[in-house]
Amino acid sequence: MPLVSMRQILDEAAKGGYGVGAFNVNNMEQIQAIMEAARETKSPVIIQASRGARAYAQDRYLYHLMLAAVELYPEIPIAMHQDHGNSPQTCISAIDMGFTSVMMDGSLMEDGKTPSTFEYNVRVTREVVEYAHARGVTVEGEIGTLGGIEDGHGAGGTGLEHLTDPEQAAEFVKLTGVDALAIAIGTSHGAYKFSKKPTGETLKMDRLIEIHKRIPDVHLVMHGSSSVPKELQDVINQYGGKLKPTWGVPIEEIQLGIKNGVRKINVDTDNRLAMTGAIRKVLFEQPEKFDPRDYLKPAREAMKKVVAERMVQFGQAGHAGDYEPIPLSEMAKRYRQ
Ligand SMILES: [Zn+2]
Repeated sequence: MPLVSMRQILDEAAKGGYGVGAFNVNNMEQIQAIMEAARETKSPVIIQASRGARAYAQDRYLYHLMLAAVELYPEIPIAMHQDHGNSPQTCISAIDMGFTSVMMDGSLMEDGKTPSTFEYNVRVTREVVEYAHARGVTVEGEIGTLGGIEDGHGAGGTGLEHLTDPEQAAEFVKLTGVDALAIAIGTSHGAYKFSKKPTGETLKMDRLIEIHKRIPDVHLVMHGSSSVPKELQDVINQYGGKLKPTWGVPIEEIQLGIKNGVRKINVDTDNRLAMTGAIRKVLFEQPEKFDPRDYLKPAREAMKKVVAERMVQFGQAGHAGDYEPIPLSEMAKRYRQ
């Protein structure tokens, strides 16, 4: 099947009451890890690339790696998503390149750092929705501002400074027509999300539930939702790494989110930790090795294990074969109606 729209994957997830992990990629090994995990667990797939990833890998390499995935895994629905587009131009270039979904993050100005106004956010997001929907492409917006910084993108802070307001979220969806909405409930990008296991004071699941009650038909997106398991941190530190103690979003909180309208869960840090731990272990235990395959193979395997685990935990496992892909042209027709 061709690349499918993220909207269809999320609609199906809503019907089935499960969530879908969105995993970031920069290179071939990461795409292979995700696809192998998807085949093993029979899961639909959202693969996403940040601006940083597009710059690192170059658009054409990324796109053709995605086409290879489509060719090699015909039984798996795959959406290709632009993570945190900082401007309409970034989103439009992704759509023109073949992405089937984009995030217009108008919660920050084009510099990717400065919180914007509601009016600015509505204006740029609406612009992207018009361009995208005419081509059957999905749009994710963001209202409220997440904490932390990743790939030079983010407002910093703890994530509690600009929580999503349920009323404003409803207004935003009405004015923009987005398909999915990223919300700020205290999560942050990067490895250092919480300095101890999060409580209701630092991770505002009550806010998420309020938002879902206000806009029950909107697919909610949790960003910064790696769980940062201690085992993965330990492997890195055991083989010469220097991570400070840190906590992520516990799986049971994500599962509570999924019961309350969360359909897309962004996970990047856990995969980075898994790969780096595996590479460190090989280089530490076998310092005579110098063939990159000797450490990239275990790294890919370690990432696959984490992705497969998340696919089962989020409930998307077993659902790859539930539906036929709707062509983007048909999606475009539906948006027009
Ligand atoms: Zn994010």
